[in-house]
Amino acid sequence: MEFNKDLKVLDEYDVVVCGGGPSGIPAALAAARAGLRVLLIEATGQLGGVGTSAGVSHLLGARTQDQSRQVCVAGIFTEITEELARRGGAIHPLSIKHEKYSPHGWSAGLAEGVPFDPVQMTLLLDEKMLDAGVDILYFTQFVDVVVKDERITHVVAFNKSGLFSVPVKAVIDATGDGDVAARSGCTMVKGREEDGLMTPASLIFHVENVDQDATREYIEKHESNRFREIILELREKGEWTFPYEIMISVQLHEVGTMMINTTRICDVDGTDGRSISKGMMQGRREVNHLFNLLRTYFPGFENCKIRSVAPVLGIRETRRIVGDYVMTVADVATGNQFPDTIGFSGYGWDLPDPKRPSYQPMYEDQKTERKLYTPIPYRVLVPNPIRNVICPGRAISVERHVLGPLREQGPCYAMGQAAGVAASMVIRDNGAFQTVDTDELRAELRRLGAKVDWEPQPVAAN
Ligand SMILES: Cc1cc2nc3c(=O)[nH]c(=O)nc-3n(C[C@H](O)[C@H](O)[C@H](O)COP(=O)(O)OP(=O)(O)OC[C@H]3O[C@@H](n4cnc5c(N)ncnc54)[C@H](O)[C@@H]3O)c2cc1C
Repeated sequence: MEFNKDLKVLDEYDVVVCGGGPSGIPAALAAARAGLRVLLIEATGQLGGVGTSAGVSHLLGARTQDQSRQVCVAGIFTEITEELARRGGAIHPLSIKHEKYSPHGWSAGLAEGVPFDPVQMTLLLDEKMLDAGVDILYFTQFVDVVVKDERITHVVAFNKSGLFSVPVKAVIDATGDGDVAARSGCTMVKGREEDGLMTPASLIFHVENVDQDATREYIEKHESNRFREIILELREKGEWTFPYEIMISVQLHEVGTMMINTTRICDVDGTDGRSISKGMMQGRREVNHLFNLLRTYFPGFENCKIRSVAPVLGIRETRRIVGDYVMTVADVATGNQFPDTIGFSGYGWDLPDPKRPSYQPMYEDQKTERKLYTPIPYRVLVPNPIRNVICPGRAISVERHVLGPLREQGPCYAMGQAAGVAASMVIRDNGAFQTVDTDELRAELRRLGAKVDWEPQPVAAN
């Protein structure tokens, strides 16, 4: 049906950032600090995206996963995480002991991450936006765009005030799902090439009062950081009814408080409202059942209590833009260097099979190697054919397994900062994201303290 309505029109903004997650946060800050008038619209009531709203309070990918833990992402990521650590709301990775079973995931590789308190994080992010002069509209959903001559002229959004439109010079699509790119008619793909299926979703919960010494003792004795033998025994007894055989727990900023990143909900389409609602209800049922199993059978969890269940389902994969360049698995495997590098990831392959949630095809099937770090070219952020929209974060132009290293929150911060600076260049030149001078972009990012060149770094203390 047709739906015509006169919309209230807000004052013009230079940039509208849609989505306030790990890619939208630095994008908004970088654009505002470059002197632009910036509006950030966010569907929930807080910033942080998956890291806060979906409970994934462990920032990965900003350092290499080996013992040296070299910096891969700096700039706004470092500014925010170090300030949060100074306030006691995060743990600096260099203060985490490098050991075979680090409690921050019970794995040596995950010791590179930054575990944080989502409550303190959202407070800090509010302050950062206010300081930078970013206008924020919470509980506001991006709805649609008006496009003329391959440029977005208006963003249409909705909140408690109703539908409204915002005249805009450039848009940063940080929705994670490429909502803006998709609604403006950019070329997109979704999910697995052969059948469109996507990697499972998760409903995360946090528990407190975990006796980590008891957990560690069990893990070390059985050499089992994912508790497979307990799970298989429970499955025999008919009590473990889930289609996966792992229990992942990550200590957050306080000892005894753990993020349970375990549920794996198949067949969720994060771009389909009904599917998300169904996934959310299944997630809550699984969390409830899993929590009872944890208390009954998992060492150290006997007296744990639920601190929070995420109010938002954790979606790992939906749409991807198709830009001029689609980054390949071979690029990651060979450590291909790019002339337009705007950041790096230190994280590895991680995109579980859509139907077998504990199964990681890149490790177990294809056995593909990767280098210590992965450069991120600017081109993967730029969709086609719209000229004034850029898409940092999870919806980038890559073969889907490249999402493993690049979708983590650390690299999303790097992409977001680059998108914010690129927006200032596009607006200054009345140009297009496709024709940004990437030497100039890299020079400006360098000046701002972001990491765009790889140089050997001193080995970390631990
Ligand atoms: C279950 C799970 C576990 C993960 N584990 C880790 C981990 O341990 N460490 C790690 O670093 N990374 C992890 N990741 C990956 C990482 O969290 C995400 O890939 C990353 O947050 C993506 O950042 P983003 O900014 O692109 O999108 P998001 O984090 O999804 O942020 C998008 C934001 O946009 C908002 N939004 C979306 N659509 C609209 C709209 N139409 N209008 C207005 N606002 C909108 C959302 O509310 C959200 O705040 C995990 C992801 C999942 C789902």
